[in-house]
Amino acid sequence: MIDLTAQQLEKVRQQLRAAEQAAGRPANSVQLLAVSKTFPVAAILSAWHAGQRAFGENYVQELQDKASELQALAIEWHFIGPLQSNKTRVVAELAHWVHSIDRLKIAERLSAQRPDELPLLNVCLQVNVSNEPSKSGCQPSEAVRLAKAIAALPHLQLRGLMCIPEAGADQAKLAAQFAQLHQLQQQLQADGLLLDTLSMGMSADMVLAVAEGSTMVRVGSAIFGARHYL
Ligand SMILES: *Cc1c(COP(=O)(O)O)cnc(C)c1O
Repeated sequence: MIDLTAQQLEKVRQQLRAAEQAAGRPANSVQLLAVSKTFPVAAILSAWHAGQRAFGENYVQELQDKASELQALAIEWHFIGPLQSNKTRVVAELAHWVHSIDRLKIAERLSAQRPDELPLLNVCLQVNVSNEPSKSGCQPSEAVRLAKAIAALPHLQLRGLMCIPEAGADQAKLAAQFAQLHQLQQQLQADGLLLDTLSMGMSADMVLAVAEGSTMVRVGSAIFGARHYL
């Protein structure tokens, strides 16, 4: 039987390799995070059997259910959704990465709740590069102060920055927002923070994000198909 998820995953991998090449970047310099939110465990298994190891989830309960069902597999779980302070414990215990930190309180709780026996929790600071009031993410003007405070927390490893650009923006606007995140990363690196990750690019704008310096694209629908919310 031909597995559609495996086929689409392979297509996305090829697009990613082509985007790296077009941008003059080394092969495999951009990691693929498979965003499995709302998709069943069977879909994750298909991608797993096709070699995918990093999966992204947006909802704490869903992460908990899937991690429990799939605990026999060495999946690298990335939490990428909005995180409320009363839900941080599960994420601190189950996730390998959190991309969506946008305030110090959440980072402090994750650090305090990260079990001692686990490796440091990898985190990204989410920045609201589109300046939309409804959007998660810290203001760009707060990013330097916040990044330094997060980097000082004992059980977290600040790896980089994440953004979700404005939905429906044209290519030029998207490129400018990705470039802004890249510049912020460079500024923080110049300030001495060792940030190796730029989490940007989704199904619709992955190629552009790679051209603008992304090191990790978060791709859901292009791999798993359209999402149906209940
Ligand atoms: C859902 C989601 C994605 C994946 O979006 P697609 O358009 O399906 O690729 C990436 N990042 C975040 C934060 C998401 O919530």
